[in-house]
Amino acid sequence: MSDVIVVGGACMGAATAFNLATRDVRVTVIERDPTLRHSSTLRSDGNVRIQFNLEENIRMSQYAMEVLDQFEDLMATEGHQPDPAARKQGNLFLVDEANREAADIGLELQRGLGCEVAWLSHDELASTFPPLVSERIVGATFGPNDGSVDPGAVTQGYRRAAIARGAVFETGVVLSLLREDGRATGVTLGDGTTRRADVVVVCAGAWSTGLLSAIGVEIPVQPVMRTVYVVATDVGRGLSLPSAFLPSGLYLLPEHEGTFVMAWSLPDDPVGFDFTPAHRDRFYDVLWPELAGWLPVFDRLEVVRSWAGLYEQNTLDANGIIGVWPEVEALYMATGFSGHGFQQCHAVGRHLAQLITGESPSLDLERLSPARVLTGSAVYEHAGRII
Ligand SMILES: Cc1cc2nc3c(=O)[nH]c(=O)nc-3n(C[C@H](O)[C@H](O)[C@H](O)COP(=O)(O)OP(=O)(O)OC[C@H]3O[C@@H](n4cnc5c(N)ncnc54)[C@H](O)[C@@H]3O)c2cc1C
Repeated sequence: MSDVIVVGGACMGAATAFNLATRDVRVTVIERDPTLRHSSTLRSDGNVRIQFNLEENIRMSQYAMEVLDQFEDLMATEGHQPDPAARKQGNLFLVDEANREAADIGLELQRGLGCEVAWLSHDELASTFPPLVSERIVGATFGPNDGSVDPGAVTQGYRRAAIARGAVFETGVVLSLLREDGRATGVTLGDGTTRRADVVVVCAGAWSTGLLSAIGVEIPVQPVMRTVYVVATDVGRGLSLPSAFLPSGLYLLPEHEGTFVMAWSLPDDPVGFDFTPAHRDRFYDVLWPELAGWLPVFDRLEVVRSWAGLYEQNTLDANGIIGVWPEVEALYMATGFSGHGFQQCHAVGRHLAQLITGESPSLDLERLSPARVLTGSAVYEHAGRII
């Protein structure tokens, strides 16, 4: 018998297992597909940023950067050193007159917490990153340490390091969670067997809702399909450009020389477990006009690829739901990250392990605990905008 069963072996499950195993907890992770091909983790953009507007999210990113800076050594196992392929190209949040005040408030909070974030005026922007400015932009906030890492390498790094410390990763479909006398006691698997444990942690991404609902635990998380487009353009060739986020939330991440990754979360994105990318017309009719409307130099480009993945969208407040469910003893969860979960796996994995072992948490994430679902106490990152 394990002390802890973790359902789901992508970034959250693997990071949680690592943090438990380093505390000598016997942990088994049950993942139905070890290739993780449909996980949000492998379909994410791997962006890590300090630029949030909620203290909890900023502090989780600070910890993420600390871990990522030493990831190769922290996760080294015999004969293997993971390479998270970190690229600190910086994140640039473009600001128009309408969101200037919100940007100032965010900057003040981030700087107050010791983050390195700069304000670039319109003219500074024009001379530093010429393609990323227009008359509609009054300036931008710039996080030079923001950037991207490879989500697959990070997840496998945690997985290998967890296994080296005694964690077990098992392939199996969790059909249901076991709830007996008000506490979580294990899971049943697709092969008809049962696994019992003192604690169950649900890290099943967008699939968490169905598993939890079957034992009477209702969380406001739904699978929302987001299509990511890779576009080719001559804009920016020869320049070292940061990732750019428009005031509307549309983003443009430099991929290779001449290509960018682009996406925009919209209210009519389909809900459901569908991995078919949206029709390219959606790009040409909706995303491109938005981009060229803000940054006219992008009036020539072409879509070369696209893929779709699921945001585990928290419809209460678009933030992670992290911790123990108050009405079922020993039932923990981490889901609902709504587009920024990958970078939080480091802090969430540590936090869950600390809660489970009774250690005092390094970060105060109480406001993001599942209890807020029962009271309906929303904790917003940014009024209405999901990136
Ligand atoms: C297009 C896109 C771009 C994104 N970009 C970013 C970004 O740049 N930065 C960022 O921080 N975040 C980003 N995100 C969000 C991020 O990917 C997720 O928040 C994060 O990966 C969630 O990780 P997870 O481990 O909780 O869930 P997942 O990665 O979805 O993993 C859940 C795992 O559980 C397994 N599972 C489910 N049900 C069962 C079951 N019954 N039995 C056994 N196993 C099960 C699944 O197979 C899966 O492997 C993005 C997401 C998308 C879709």
